[in-house]
Amino acid sequence: MQNLTQIFGSMVFNDAVMKDRLPLETYNALQNTVKSGEHLDLAVANVVANAMKDWAIELGATHFSHWFHPMTGITAEKHDSFISPAKDGTIIMEFSGKELIKGESDASSFPSGGLRATFEARGYTAWDPTSPAFVKDTTLYIPTIFCSYTGEVLDKKIPLLRSIEALDKACVRVLKFFPDTANVTHATPTVGAEQEYFLIDRDLYEKRKDLVFCGRTLFGAMPPKGQELADHYFGSIKTRVAEYMKELDEELWKLGILSKTKHNEAAPSQHELAPIFDTTNIAADHNQMIMDAMKRLAPKHGFMCLLHEKPFAWVNGSGKHNNWSIQTDTGINLFSPGPRPYDNKRFLLFLVAVIKAVDEYQDLLRLSIASAGNDHRLGAGEAPPAIISVYLGEDIERIFEAIESGKTYKPYDKSKMEVSEVIPEFTKDTSDRNRTSPFAFTGNKFEFRMVGSSASIAGPNFVLNTIAADVLNEFADRLEQSQNAEKAINSLIKRTYINHKRIVFNGNNYAKEWVEEAARRGLSNYASAPDAVPHFLDDKNVAVLERNKVLNRKEIGTRMEIKLESYSKTINIEANTLLDIYFKQILPAVVKYEKTLADAIASKKSVDAELNVATETSVLTHLSDFSAASYEIALKLKEETIAAKGIAGAAPKAKFYETRVLAGMNNLRRLIDAMEVLVDEEAWPVPTYDRLLFSVNS
Ligand code: ADP
Ligand code: MG
Repeated sequence: MQNLTQIFGSMVFNDAVMKDRLPLETYNALQNTVKSGEHLDLAVANVVANAMKDWAIELGATHFSHWFHPMTGITAEKHDSFISPAKDGTIIMEFSGKELIKGESDASSFPSGGLRATFEARGYTAWDPTSPAFVKDTTLYIPTIFCSYTGEVLDKKIPLLRSIEALDKACVRVLKFFPDTANVTHATPTVGAEQEYFLIDRDLYEKRKDLVFCGRTLFGAMPPKGQELADHYFGSIKTRVAEYMKELDEELWKLGILSKTKHNEAAPSQHELAPIFDTTNIAADHNQMIMDAMKRLAPKHGFMCLLHEKPFAWVNGSGKHNNWSIQTDTGINLFSPGPRPYDNKRFLLFLVAVIKAVDEYQDLLRLSIASAGNDHRLGAGEAPPAIISVYLGEDIERIFEAIESGKTYKPYDKSKMEVSEVIPEFTKDTSDRNRTSPFAFTGNKFEFRMVGSSASIAGPNFVLNTIAADVLNEFADRLEQSQNAEKAINSLIKRTYINHKRIVFNGNNYAKEWVEEAARRGLSNYASAPDAVPHFLDDKNVAVLERNKVLNRKEIGTRMEIKLESYSKTINIEANTLLDIYFKQILPAVVKYEKTLADAIASKKSVDAELNVATETSVLTHLSDFSAASYEIALKLKEETIAAKGIAGAAPKAKFYETRVLAGMNNLRRLIDAMEVLVDEEAWPVPTYDRLLFSVNS
């Protein structure tokens, strides 16, 4: 490997490259656009485009692509080459400012949730200069937004960018009231997303149509060993996996992504990668690039990378912890408590703003991470439940309790840890970790732990930014009207905490008692995506998104439809895949094995009618019962998938898929799993869980 500092960012049109390659005035004009959102004129764009093209060609690029995030979560790209015919039959390589700034494409095949008819096909992509362009393979990628001819939002980036602006303005308004931040002109949300994934053997993957079509196994009996020994978590990384991780790191570093930690996760064959946090827009783009690179590089190493939230039953699924904070342009992390959190009124005010925002918009946060895949994790005792609550840690909660009761707060003794004389002394954190909380304050940031591993982080982050901005604006209104800012701040902290402390929960979120306690507190608990998503259109949710100019009612309706449609489509594909495997692989294999057993019984009997055939007969009887029952369920499931198509309305349809189709799939699965354990391994048509989960790491 080359020198790390040299390869880092070598494929990115970053600040250093721009400084080097752009005339000073162009560079400055572009910086004004990036930093203060000033409009960029075409003459400047032309110069930038030309420099970008020359730079990209030197790195082997022949094409450019406007790269965007359509509403379904996957990134989209269309490649155009730089070539342009010259008069003498040769070509020249061209890339204009116009092509950099705007792309026009047929948007009609992207889901629009009924926002537009197919004849209104025009869609525009437009350059987002706040996220740097990069070269991958032979293409120059330009991060863009995507909207319709009539200006409606068709992507995930626009609401994210708008929410960042809303939060920025709201923070600055509030920060004016504190001496150390009165000079702040911008504040921006920062995000670090920890990405979990599975690596499994490619040849096994290809033998399972459920993995190929659905990204998850739809059946599979419990293997003899799961994750109960906790021997995989932080376990030593196997050579093959280490080689993959090394290449992945190098690829990401070249793309300017600060890939930092990697380790084995709780489930066998599960791993995690975390980059160093960045501003939200870049973190969201980078997370897409990370997922892309994970998938792209795996086959070279004989693996397939699974990003599904629940590829396997019986062991943990994958999430994406979304670490979120806000940073000022003067370098202050607004959630950093400092040495005396009790006296840090700015910190406490921002903290209660988040507490209030999360309490008032629990449902928005919940639905922002809702998907068919994530439904398998939430509340399953491995991930936070579907109930949103905030973990503050004992120390911070004691501060609020003191404020509430008017008593003086006694700081915690930051006790020193002395484990042994040879180990250097270190100080203890003021609170332990709480791994079960869906929304945990972790010292100087919040960690939203409900995000699914395959999701774009743009969705949850635009919600987080918007609801925080909204509460901060409300605080700013109060402060601007008050005669005595200090008094107003103290009262805001106290009152907000008292009014919203029902959302604070420091206990075990996986416990059954919490579900009951949360219900008593009046917290919402939407167990599934079809239950959660329709609340997108609740008046208060529309109001907060409209008030902060992030999305309008029509666009919200669209997003809701798309989320529900994509839920229904996912379950439909899964059901069809399961039926296909059942009828074409499982049932024939079982019938064949039943014949083997029947033959064995007959041949024993032909030797001596008195021979004991109880075992064979018992297995055969069980298999016959299971196969007969499974056949009935499969036929019923087929009928349900047909009936589902006829249901009108995206919400009732999704609910039908959940309660009838998914439920039928689970019933069928139980019987398939019961048959798997009775059938000869050699006769079973697909790789089983023991091999899928342990072949890479055994
Ligand atoms: P863990 O959650 O496993 O304890 P860390 O505390 O090291 O891991 O951090 C996890 C993620 O949080 C990393 O991506 C890190 O960069 C990110 N992070 C740290 N500080 C901030 C911050 N101020 N804003 C956003 N993300 C942050
Ligand atoms: Mg974490």
